[in-house]
Amino acid sequence: MRLPIYMDNNATTPVDPRVLEAMLPYLQGRFGNAASRSHRFGWEAEEAVEQAREQVASVINASSKEIVWTSGATESNNIAIKGVAAMYRDQGNHIITQVTEHKAVIDPCKHLEQSGCQVTFLPVDKYGRVSVEQVREAMTDKTILVSLMHGNNEIGTLQPIREIGALCKERGVLFHTDASQTFGKVPIDVEAMGIDLLSCSGHKCYGPKGIGALYVRRKRPRVRCEPVLHGGGHERGMRSGTLNVPGIVGMGKAAELCRELMPTESKKVAALRDRLKDGLFGQLDEIFLNGHPTDRTPNNLNVSFLYVEGESLMMGFDDVAVSSGSACTSASLEPSYVLKALGVGDDLAHSSIRFSLGRFTTEEEVDYAVERVVTAVRRLREMSPLYEMAQEGIDLSKVQWAAH
Ligand SMILES: *Cc1c(COP(=O)(O)O)cnc(C)c1O
Repeated sequence: MRLPIYMDNNATTPVDPRVLEAMLPYLQGRFGNAASRSHRFGWEAEEAVEQAREQVASVINASSKEIVWTSGATESNNIAIKGVAAMYRDQGNHIITQVTEHKAVIDPCKHLEQSGCQVTFLPVDKYGRVSVEQVREAMTDKTILVSLMHGNNEIGTLQPIREIGALCKERGVLFHTDASQTFGKVPIDVEAMGIDLLSCSGHKCYGPKGIGALYVRRKRPRVRCEPVLHGGGHERGMRSGTLNVPGIVGMGKAAELCRELMPTESKKVAALRDRLKDGLFGQLDEIFLNGHPTDRTPNNLNVSFLYVEGESLMMGFDDVAVSSGSACTSASLEPSYVLKALGVGDDLAHSSIRFSLGRFTTEEEVDYAVERVVTAVRRLREMSPLYEMAQEGIDLSKVQWAAH
């Protein structure tokens, strides 16, 4: 076993060696521009791009013509949300999303609010879910788009997107989903799920960084997006710019591997995740699972260790790479807005750790992580007067603190 151990696959995944192998020729001899129509270099690049388009499309039961290459899920979300808002503004200006989206959905929505769009940010239940009824009630005759993620990046909770997709179809509203955390890991069928636009990212499914895709439905209905970038008219006019051929080839190969491996891999990863959970919950008291107990991505475990501060805890096992519920993306020590949206108190949010396993996680690594975490939690709790008081049966919520 090699240290440090990587358990932060929701932040990014390593590139699968088979993906790297597929990419290398396109970083060397096959350097052509896929838009060059007059010679072999261009044809060869274009052929590779089209093959990758098929590979990505077949993961989600789409047609290759419906795949637009982007630089990642952030850009895909921006094109989907801003592109639809601009293209359909004659039909309405209302968008429905939820408070626990990734910033790559929240921020484009907030940006649109400044230019006259109305955005409903639906609250979520204690597991981080929205219901079809909530979406139905929020719809008005001005609603043009519903954007709800498939699997949450912090807590793993899966949304009932099939039911929401059906509702959107019934009401003639477009449905976008950010599937960055589920593409290639959880079955997705854009037809059966009524999805009109879907974002995914290469580096979340064992492909390279800086490449992503946006699925844009072409039939029933034919969806159109105003471009965010102008120039050249590549990708059906939706995303100009010379294609990142090696990245695209890598994402195509990554998608193909995910499609082949998904049935066995998702079971294997879920079993390791459960082993991690059982190891922690079997040895520690006062710990809590964040997110939905069963409807969650197979690789994610988000746990709050009461009376222990997440950042200090992480330093206590510095050879296991995870992330904490505070300071997630910024330099601030704000507790995670996702956990707060579930109604998790500040103390529990500050004590949360996200473990995200992946294709290359082993049983040995899980057992090592359990031991390291349990030891670190126990050591920190030994130094915690609050934990000691709670152990003695004192109700901390009733304590009159002198400094009040
Ligand atoms: C990682 C992630 C993104 C951003 O993807 P990039 O390809 O890094 O831009 C967006 N949404 C979710 C849910 C993610 O996990």
